Amino acid sequence: MVIKSANFITSNTDPAKCPPPIMPEYAFIGRSNVGKSSLINRLVERKDLAKTSGKPGKTQTINHFLVNEKWYIVDLPGYGYASVSKVKKASFGEMIEKYLLNRENLMCTLVLLDSRLEPQAIDLDFIHWLGHNGLPFVMVFTKADKQGPVAVQKYIQRYEIELLKTWEELPPIYITSAEKGFGRDELLDFIAETNNSFQKPGSKILSKPQ
Ligand code: GDP
Repeated sequence: MVIKSANFITSNTDPAKCPPPIMPEYAFIGRSNVGKSSLINRLVERKDLAKTSGKPGKTQTINHFLVNEKWYIVDLPGYGYASVSKVKKASFGEMIEKYLLNRENLMCTLVLLDSRLEPQAIDLDFIHWLGHNGLPFVMVFTKADKQGPVAVQKYIQRYEIELLKTWEELPPIYITSAEKGFGRDELLDFIAETNNSFQKPGSKILSKPQ
């Protein structure tokens, strides 16, 4: 896919205020610092479309970017743990959960995972939460330039082993580097193909009150 345009559309904390669901969209999510903003910027070849961590003003909002006037990238806030009476409970945040569970034009969630780390409990919890709720997702390993391909495969395999403990099938996996551009074409191809199966939500015919 050739990227002709990529523009910031909205930033908000209320999932109900997202743009009308008339175009396919893809949610990008992961722990803070996983490389999400860098990957989004690399995908659309814009330096500063999504704000990277080093910059002030990184907010906890749902950010919509319109690509090629045809589909949306949605930049979601990073998730973490909430401490509930000393027991760690996975919390992806009410706003994120509400968005993911209700967004009718959401085609896929891209779960970003650092390719240098052992499977992290919060990431596994999030993946299980998506599966439990029947939400389609792919796993996107980031920062693959930071180590050789053999080491990257080793970390990916650990995720696969973890997931196969409870799952029969693995989700699609992409290996990326925002720095070097690895995986960019593959991810854009995936999005282009998935866009083809988007169906506009049926418009309701409103009848006049009698
Ligand atoms: P975010 O918090 O998930 O949006 O993460 P950022 O995109 O802001 O990246 C966090 C840090 O990781 C920054 O210092 C980036 O320069 C660095 N980073 C992100 N992607 C890559 C990558 O593909 N390769 C390398 N080497 N560093 C990266």
